[in-house]
Amino acid sequence: MKDLIKSLLPTIAIKKYRAYRTPKKYRGSDVTCPICNSSFKKFAPFGSSKRENRKCHYCGSLERHRLIFLYLNEKFNFFNKNSNDKIRLLHFAPERMFYNIFSEYNGIDYFPCDLMPERMKYNGKTNITKADITDIPFQDNSFNFIICSHVLEHIPDDHLAMSELYRVLSKNGNSILQVPIDNNREKTYEDPNISSPEERMKAYGHPDHVRFYGKDYKTKLEKCGFKVNEDNFVSTLNKNDIIKYGLIESELIYHCKK
Ligand SMILES: [Zn+2]
Repeated sequence: MKDLIKSLLPTIAIKKYRAYRTPKKYRGSDVTCPICNSSFKKFAPFGSSKRENRKCHYCGSLERHRLIFLYLNEKFNFFNKNSNDKIRLLHFAPERMFYNIFSEYNGIDYFPCDLMPERMKYNGKTNITKADITDIPFQDNSFNFIICSHVLEHIPDDHLAMSELYRVLSKNGNSILQVPIDNNREKTYEDPNISSPEERMKAYGHPDHVRFYGKDYKTKLEKCGFKVNEDNFVSTLNKNDIIKYGLIESELIYHCKK
């Protein structure tokens, strides 16, 4: 009994502290972030339109991060690897909540990369490799897993970036290559003449984006060699879990293999 109380104490203390840090109107247990295991009445609003119920009050995760996390767990048993079964992971533009987990986890040989790593000082650590995604500083077939989420829409030569990701992925390796997609477009919209942040915001919905991908995103990946599974993983979850984890029902996982 004593041991049980001891083992529960830190969890209770952490939960209490997180509740204390959450604004009063969001305190509750209707939604849960699977990444940091915090619960709230609702997630925080996020984005230029401040749409409701998106961002974790504690770790900052958005719908897409929670989806990737659940997918890694479910499909790849990602956080249950032993030292013989290690994942050699290339992670482009590492998100803070993932960086903190991957860099601490024994089952992962972690290679976080970014074009401007000096902007990222996660946990006070700065061991993120400076890397241009169109010229990745690793040999062919170096990684058995790659995560690159919401990066390619910033890269003018995305074909070259995709080809580089394919090159460094090992045979039979897995990658998750997410981008924002406008499902109402058959073809990706891009125009090199649209170059100012204001024009890009108007055309693509973000001042740093250089295109808006359409349904042809899959074909673009295939042209670089990937075998692409547009995985409608969300549809395999029950309605209550989709609401609980704050996921977007139409969001697909681009699971790409070599
Ligand atoms: Zn969280």
